[in-house]
Amino acid sequence: MNVIVLIKEVPDMDTVRFDTENGRVDRSSAEAEINPFDLNALQAAVELKEQGATVTVLTMGPPRAEKTVRDAYARGADLGVLLSDSKFGGADTWATSVTLAAGIKKLGAFDLVLCGEKSVDGDTAQVGAEIAEILGIPHAYYVEHIQNVSKDSIQVRVEDICGSKQVRELTLPALISVTKNLNTVQLPEIRRKLLSLNVPITKFGLEDMAGHTSQEQVGLKGSKTKVLKIYVPAEIQRNNRIYRDHFNQFQKNVWAELCKRNLLPNRGDQHEII
Ligand code: FAD
Repeated sequence: MNVIVLIKEVPDMDTVRFDTENGRVDRSSAEAEINPFDLNALQAAVELKEQGATVTVLTMGPPRAEKTVRDAYARGADLGVLLSDSKFGGADTWATSVTLAAGIKKLGAFDLVLCGEKSVDGDTAQVGAEIAEILGIPHAYYVEHIQNVSKDSIQVRVEDICGSKQVRELTLPALISVTKNLNTVQLPEIRRKLLSLNVPITKFGLEDMAGHTSQEQVGLKGSKTKVLKIYVPAEIQRNNRIYRDHFNQFQKNVWAELCKRNLLPNRGDQHEII
């Protein structure tokens, strides 16, 4: 079974700063790491190795994202692939998905693609579904449990957004996007950490993926959306009050407060509650 795990390099969101002037995330302001949800996807793939799976991690990013691929190797991946080219720069989610799907096609036959439910920086949760649509394969989002993996199919339990749970069976090849509830992420082994420093990483640029995508479809050129502005919203000062009065007194107090703040339509002298 060939399993591909999509991992995104993201900045540590606790320390990252925004370059509000240029409308960008200042990635130099924080350490880079594997998107936390993708670690759950990787963990699930590594667990499938017990059933004979081969795990390939795939990322699109700048050359420094190689470090992230090495980290994934240390955590149990067998092969690492980095899609990196200046022509991929400025990609929106669609162009990112087109590029990653081209990378998957370039890698050849696969059975399962795993990704995180969303990234902690972009946070759109669009890339997995878009890739599945481009590849023409079934997909399930918000997967919190994987069971009965066979040569041809996989069963997953999905955290439904309305609160119910669903067990679904997908025909392979398929794409699954996972939640943090799926498993507990294990720490990398020291032995693999050391090996990861020298393990060969496959790198593909746009030319290497000729026949699967083109310059018009990737990067800024292939993007369907444009970020006009990025800014940190001003903090709102809330002025909460807690009333622990008897209900009638509570009504009077709230009414008086609303009147004082001019939050009620002008209703003459009807502002007294009996
Ligand atoms: P989500 O859809 O939330 O991620 C879901 C899952 O998909 C992840 O958990 C992961 O498994 C997988 N995934 C997502 N991205 C990748 C990836 N790159 N490699 C492997 N797996 C992945 N970002 C930049 O860094 N530089 C730019 O110049 C840039 N320009 C942009 C310009 C525009 C107009 C727009 C709209 C966005 C731009 N972005 C840029 C943001 C970039 O498009 C997103 O980071 C990217 O599309 C992924 O979207 P997301 O983070 O919302 O992923």
